[in-house]
Amino acid sequence: MMRNTINLEKLCKDLTYTLMTKLTAKKMAILLVEEESPFVIIGAQEGFDEATLALSSNNPLIEYFNIQGIQKELLVYNEIAKQSEEDPSDRDLTVLIREMEKLGVSLVGPIYIKGRLIGLFFLDDKRSEDIYTEDEFSMLEIIFSQAGTSIENARLYKRVQEQMEELKKNQSEQLMQSAKLASVGELAVSVAHEINNPLTGILGFTSLLLSEMPPEDPRTKDLKVIESEALRSRQIVRNLLDFSRSHGSKKEAIDINGVIRNTLTLIQYQAKTSNINIVEKFAKDLPPVQADADQLKQVFINLIKNAFDAMPKGGMLTIETSTLPEKPLMLNRTSLHESPSEEMVMIQFKDSGMGIHPDNIQNIFDPFFTTKGRQMGTGLGLSISYNIIEKHGGRLEVESELGKGSNFMIKLPALSHQGSRNV
Ligand code: ADP
Repeated sequence: MMRNTINLEKLCKDLTYTLMTKLTAKKMAILLVEEESPFVIIGAQEGFDEATLALSSNNPLIEYFNIQGIQKELLVYNEIAKQSEEDPSDRDLTVLIREMEKLGVSLVGPIYIKGRLIGLFFLDDKRSEDIYTEDEFSMLEIIFSQAGTSIENARLYKRVQEQMEELKKNQSEQLMQSAKLASVGELAVSVAHEINNPLTGILGFTSLLLSEMPPEDPRTKDLKVIESEALRSRQIVRNLLDFSRSHGSKKEAIDINGVIRNTLTLIQYQAKTSNINIVEKFAKDLPPVQADADQLKQVFINLIKNAFDAMPKGGMLTIETSTLPEKPLMLNRTSLHESPSEEMVMIQFKDSGMGIHPDNIQNIFDPFFTTKGRQMGTGLGLSISYNIIEKHGGRLEVESELGKGSNFMIKLPALSHQGSRNV
């Protein structure tokens, strides 16, 4: 039976039941000792109150048997009680007797495997009140020396099974997470397609109205705003679609300072009502970059909107442009021509907002990561921006201090000075 059972609970149960029946004992239990566990584990028991078996790993009975390299024999209550009567000064014996009385057992045996204690078994008196015979003691010792190996195997098997379960759970969580991401991505793309159609209608009718309206009509200005905002929306939708499948964008030499100024006109009103002071620190002779102005505008809007969100009570947003590496003061034309490709244009968006928690900083560029809740955030702004900047051969980086603010830095390769200054 022992050799055929790999199930730990069944093994302990069958062993307990068979031995109890054969020996006609009143109670029996098998306790398992785990190396790092502070308590023993009940393998199986018959007739005990479970609470009395909840022993700690440093119970005197366990310590008695658990001595490295020494395999002890069964403890028989009647025998040690007799020894104790003969030598009442033996404190160790008194402690063991007290423990056996507390448990209500007349026999305690160890379960060893290669000299290591892995469990104990307890037996109470026989129902007949007859005492156990020497043959029965020998039988128990033989059985439990074999049981040690079977219990250890079953325990290892159980551990492997638990690890397999854990692995399966983790894997399925990961799969679910990526499936969720994929389906949300698909949803975003299909919504983007849906929005594209009404936008085409808005743009078509706006340009129709514009063409019918005399230019001096004051409503022309409003219509132009509708048109440019609808165009911007269409660009956002296109970028969202871009995110799932890339198609070529139209890149040309552009002046970054100009694009930022242009972007700021769109959010000026919101800055005012949100009590946010925008400080512009634009480098004067910034080299141009080869870029899609609409896409960069969208990146700037994303970063500015995030900065606004990070300062709900108002604050300061500094937008700074510069050239990297800093130009040496004494620069002759030759050196300018020699290393034009290393030059980068840096655009910084520094806010005095709440900052980003160090636990989140790894995730902020992930699609759909947001701390703003589903109503307020989509978690797409930074991942789209990151993607756009990467496609321009640049980098989007962040530095942030909790409670002080964040600095989002865009680095874009500057266009070669040869011929590009005049673009
Ligand atoms: P969303 O704005 O929809 O949440 P984003 O991808 O733009 O999505 O941003 C992801 C997250 O990054 C935000 O939810 C926020 O936690 C954090 N974050 C982005 N910009 C800032 C900022 N300037 N200050 C503080 N946290 C920011």
